[in-house]
Amino acid sequence: MKRLLLLAPVLLLVLLGTAPVAAETDIVVIASDVQPSFPLEAVFTLEVESYAEIVDVRLRYRVDKMNYAEVVSEGWADFTPTNRTTANWRWDMRRGSLPPGAEVTYWWMIEDADGNRLETSPQVMHFDDNRFAWQSLTSLTDDGSELRLFWYQGSDSFAQELLAACEQGLARLTEGIGAHPERPIEIYVYASAGDLQGGMIFPQEWTGGVAFTEFSTIAIGIAPTRVDWGKRALVHELTHLVVHQVTFSPYGQLPTWLDEGLAMYNEGELESHFQSRLRTAIQDGSLISVRSLCSPFSAESDKAYLSYAQSYSLVEYLLDAHGPELMLELLTVFKQGSTYDAALIEVYGFDIEGLDARWSATLATSSLADGSVPAGALQGRVWRSQPVLIVLVAVLVLWIILTLAKRGRASGQAAEEGEL
Ligand SMILES: [Zn+2]
Repeated sequence: MKRLLLLAPVLLLVLLGTAPVAAETDIVVIASDVQPSFPLEAVFTLEVESYAEIVDVRLRYRVDKMNYAEVVSEGWADFTPTNRTTANWRWDMRRGSLPPGAEVTYWWMIEDADGNRLETSPQVMHFDDNRFAWQSLTSLTDDGSELRLFWYQGSDSFAQELLAACEQGLARLTEGIGAHPERPIEIYVYASAGDLQGGMIFPQEWTGGVAFTEFSTIAIGIAPTRVDWGKRALVHELTHLVVHQVTFSPYGQLPTWLDEGLAMYNEGELESHFQSRLRTAIQDGSLISVRSLCSPFSAESDKAYLSYAQSYSLVEYLLDAHGPELMLELLTVFKQGSTYDAALIEVYGFDIEGLDARWSATLATSSLADGSVPAGALQGRVWRSQPVLIVLVAVLVLWIILTLAKRGRASGQAAEEGEL
């Protein structure tokens, strides 16, 4: 998942409670237009006339998305100062791209040499990906959440199956931990990862799906022949989106294991290849510490597999052992701004190491271990992550050996071994 930030091209103004209004003036707008070219740019054009020379033309715009405060951006248009002129302002999206379907409200601020000013009425631009002929399906869930799915390849039943999976995923999330989306969710289903990447300015070759939290939009590549994979991937991104909305705050981030673990858990039962990777790690004592899993996962595929599998297992443990109410409370504490350790202690009464130890202990008896965990495998991992404990035990052994040596009951050779 990637969060994309919108950077204001020229200047950011924070205005609270101001609504643009057209005023009485000698300035007359002859034509106003916008040409969006998804995903690269949008060109705004204004033809305007006055008795005096036009000296200032600016475009103001507001992007419709979740924000901490209402943000109005401003672009200074190119024009020749005459009585009748055409002004252009080009919004270069390379400095902060918008997802498909984004809505932008814009208006013009014009001034002439006599000091007359005109603020035009707001208009709305829809930044649509017009490379494809989109069809759409909408559903309203029982709790009033709206889901809208757009697609262009595959039958109606393909789209209905994907939408039904999203409805179920959302229901599990709202019933399970009481997390609701903040606004209607729009899902753009591209027919391939290549089509999706063609709609992004700086695509990564691995990008198969993106959740634009602030816009409540998901863009994903799903071929109609891969509907089963698509349903899981879609629910995964949908969960990221809702969880990020619930925890939307300028204060902090979720630990990666919690963010990915909730998304994996909400997909349904852990897939067999993740299960077997987790089983192997339990058996050979090579699990990754929970503290390491707070940071972004390794790019190495084998480690990444294990990281996702462990994240699923950690969330499953927290929900099974401590209930869904505490999970929502944990998310709320993170939203208010808390360190990973402090949030866990506040809600569960243990820190990251405490979670690690408790969770590890349950693995020994879980079906994943299959009763075939070699003795000491789990303990071996806990010990490795707690070097202080190893030092303490070594000191204790040394003390016993030295005490025995002093009493003359041990040979000089045994004391020497103890010191090594
Ligand atoms: Zn994810």
